[in-house]
Amino acid sequence: MRIDADVVAELKQAGENASDVLRVALTRLRGRIALVSSFGAESAVMLALAAEIDPAVPVLFLETGQHFPETLAYRHELARTLGLRDVRDLHPNPVQLEKRDPTAELWAFDPDACCALRKVEPLDEAMIPFDAWITGRKRTQAATRQGLPVIEDAPGGKIKLNPLIAWTPRELDAEMTRRNLPRHPLTLRGYPSIGCAPCTRPVGEGADPRAGRWAGKAKTECGIHMRKPAGQGA
Ligand code: SF4
Repeated sequence: MRIDADVVAELKQAGENASDVLRVALTRLRGRIALVSSFGAESAVMLALAAEIDPAVPVLFLETGQHFPETLAYRHELARTLGLRDVRDLHPNPVQLEKRDPTAELWAFDPDACCALRKVEPLDEAMIPFDAWITGRKRTQAATRQGLPVIEDAPGGKIKLNPLIAWTPRELDAEMTRRNLPRHPLTLRGYPSIGCAPCTRPVGEGADPRAGRWAGKAKTECGIHMRKPAGQGA
């Protein structure tokens, strides 16, 4: 692991307190850590907490080329509102895009390959200079996320931090209201979880919030969190 043991110990001491985890991470790992955000329905709380500690933290946004226009507008609105100074739009490699998805329809017949091209590979490249990254994942989001810890080993000897892991949708909603944070406009139109436009559908009241992601397909994760560190399988 590239992260010093004393930093890991401090992170562990912060437990599941999001502000404490972020404070340790963004001060002790300054220049070595990035925050990955989808600028989706629940992204504002994490970004606000991080901006309070270090508004210059690099924020990586996967600009897949397939987002709703509302998401792109929201990405700029939130960055401006929170004073985030280093939001980076990660685009797919244009040569690979032309070669592997020239008609932008790969999502329809091979969504895993599409996510690899438009998300996994750009993020892998952008993460090269960093030793740690912060995600906005929560245990309540999906069955695949229920056992997640705050600190995870990630490929390449890096670590991944999930400071909001224990937060419920109700707590996030209350915090957004308390802070008067702007809402993603699509949340008011039946989209409780928002990804790329072709792969996101609105869901009915009370339905699983992620039911609208890759609806009708077996896929539940985009792949950026699927790879295991060495020694933990493929
Ligand atoms: S979410 Fe859909 S459109 Fe976006 S990268 Fe994945 S498969 Fe492609």
